[in-house]
Amino acid sequence: MANALGTAVDLDMIAAAILQPHFDAVRDIFVEYHKKNGICADEISKVKLLVDGRAHDAERHFAATTSTGKQIIIAPEGADLPTETLVAITCHEFGHAADFLHPGRWLVDDRRKPAVWVTDEVSDKKKKIFWRRWNDRSTDEIEWAADAIAYTVTGKRVGYCGPCLLQCFDGQERPAGLR
Ligand SMILES: [Zn+2]
Repeated sequence: MANALGTAVDLDMIAAAILQPHFDAVRDIFVEYHKKNGICADEISKVKLLVDGRAHDAERHFAATTSTGKQIIIAPEGADLPTETLVAITCHEFGHAADFLHPGRWLVDDRRKPAVWVTDEVSDKKKKIFWRRWNDRSTDEIEWAADAIAYTVTGKRVGYCGPCLLQCFDGQERPAGLR
């Protein structure tokens, strides 16, 4: 695409201009929560956004988080989503980031409830048990954990709406097997 002066316009840059402020705002919420609750915010504050079309590999896929938790990838198509959907997706991805950045430190006993942070005071023996349980999770459990952490941090329950079951606030619970 070219602008009125005939200069090439990078559509991914336009998408980034829409996505980045929402990404930054959600990251701020997560950083604030970490700081307020005595959780180290160094890692979460450094999570980066990469705008990349490869994140849109299926109709209902717009975003992904690397297994290190250090990078969230959102497809340029995410910029065309309703704001609430985009923000709910971003909250879900930050839930993954927080989970992956601190292996075994977010406990999800009941996926309908907010996740609980394992404080530093908890014994190393117990932390090891939590880590083992964390490491053995199914794909569904990992997805539910992202929503439960987002619920803790934002105070809003991420749910699933519409024919594609995209993230929204409230909405139905994430069904098992949703990919
Ligand atoms: Zn997910």
